[in-house]
Amino acid sequence: MKHICPHCGKPSFTPVQKALCGGLSSSGKPCQECGVRCVNGKASLIVNSVLRLIAFIMVIVVYFVHTNLMQVLIFGVGPLVAAYILGFLFDMFFGKLVEAIKRV
Ligand SMILES: [Zn+2]
Repeated sequence: MKHICPHCGKPSFTPVQKALCGGLSSSGKPCQECGVRCVNGKASLIVNSVLRLIAFIMVIVVYFVHTNLMQVLIFGVGPLVAAYILGFLFDMFFGKLVEAIKRV
């Protein structure tokens, strides 16, 4: 399954390539067919923002609930890593690519 380029309409992005394109604020990755740089669209931005917000809240909660440094490290870093991985998976399989707005 490949993702379609928003510019030329050809399925030129693999799921991993799409995930590596980054969000709206990044410069994106070029399409292999037409060379136009693409980024993940609004859905990705929203999902990633929500995931990071949840992770941030969890880290704060963990910070106050756990006193053991090891627990703070595990439960404090865990949600951030999980948010990053979930965001990456979302970009791989869901959401649409759009043409990058930012110029290099
Ligand atoms: Zn293209």
